[in-house]
Amino acid sequence: NRHHQALVDKAQQYFPGGSNGNGPLSPEHGFVIASGQGAHVYDPEGRAWLDYLLGSGPMILGHGHPEVVEAVREQLDKGTTFFFLNDKAIELAEAIVEAMPCAEQVRYTSTGSEATFFALRLARAYRGRDKILKFEGGYHGSHDYAMMSTEGTPIRPYPQPRRGSAGIPKSLENEVLIAPFNDLEQTTAIIEAHHDELAAVIVEPFQRALTPVAGFLQGVRALTDKYGLPLIFDEVVTGFRFAYGGAQEHYGVTPDLASVGKIVGGGYPLAAVVGKKEFMAPFVTPDADGMVVGQVGTLNGNPIAAAAGLATLRVLRQPGSYERLHAVGQQVREQLTATLREHGVAGQVIGDGPIFQLIFNERDSVHTYRDTLDHDTDKNRIFHDALLQNGILKSASKGYISLVHSDEDLEETAQVFDKAMAEVAK
Ligand code: PMP
Repeated sequence: NRHHQALVDKAQQYFPGGSNGNGPLSPEHGFVIASGQGAHVYDPEGRAWLDYLLGSGPMILGHGHPEVVEAVREQLDKGTTFFFLNDKAIELAEAIVEAMPCAEQVRYTSTGSEATFFALRLARAYRGRDKILKFEGGYHGSHDYAMMSTEGTPIRPYPQPRRGSAGIPKSLENEVLIAPFNDLEQTTAIIEAHHDELAAVIVEPFQRALTPVAGFLQGVRALTDKYGLPLIFDEVVTGFRFAYGGAQEHYGVTPDLASVGKIVGGGYPLAAVVGKKEFMAPFVTPDADGMVVGQVGTLNGNPIAAAAGLATLRVLRQPGSYERLHAVGQQVREQLTATLREHGVAGQVIGDGPIFQLIFNERDSVHTYRDTLDHDTDKNRIFHDALLQNGILKSASKGYISLVHSDEDLEETAQVFDKAMAEVAK
């Protein structure tokens, strides 16, 4: 189709590397998304993919959910943005506070990256120190602190591979300590050794596709309590997904501050830093130098995004939503495990709730980021290419399930998994 090819060619011309920095739709696959409806997305020729990408997570109700569309349409008639308090932003803040255990107050941003950025800034202002502890492999967005190398803090026996991103000031390396996710012993050693330099600990309660091992989050909470360190949960992915109250409800550990994004904006650019009043206070209470945490943004609390978020939360609050999301997640993980066995392919199926992932390796279990790096990249590529060729869209790093994936969709998925695994086993 010439129109489609022309779009791909234009993308090659106008974006560095031919894509806008977003993984699976990269030029080697040569396709562009033109629309989405329910659990499917379509290219300009109308070819369909069953969507386990969900726009990288926000579209938990699927594409074009009628209640969300209606809410957005209604708001469009009333105004697009005001740079001033609006009714929808206030109503959404109330819904967030009702939902999330740690949330007494809310401050909007436009992206999840900004939300984690301001959570860190708040914590540093609160504690009057600069250094933060994050976890190996933790992704908290695209700003400098979040993109710091994931090299481990040198407490033996824990030297880690160096991975990071170009263009980050070298001076920031001194501002970040890194512990291994799901390794409470090493984390304890690092916090015990460095607690008097630390401003905060930031963790994804469920990291990428890794479930926290029993006692890990509780242990981190106990350590941060012991040393008076603010604990930040990055719930950009998990917020409103694992439970209505996020991972903090699902795993039963309450942080002091959290970042939320993706689902909370219903697919529009809206995210937030939320937390206990005491920890949100640096936004308004001057520190020893008379300074408050500076945070504004032209589009923050945008009423269209807030209307979409409110409608999304309203649907998610209906009885049975989370039971369905968890049941489908479990079913997809079981399908994948069965497919691995049937084809005699070594691997692990990981994930929790409506998130699943497959790691091609020979291990008995996968708990840490280091474990996930030990995988067969060829098999992973063959599997994911075969999914795309057979009508399933999924990022190579995780799969997201929506409320509108039907039982028929799951049957189709099982068949495609089988086909793709046959390619891997060849
Ligand atoms: N934190 C986590 C855990 C994320 O997965 C992401 C994005 N995938 C972000 C923060 C950043 O959010 P955004 O892409 O909206 O800036």
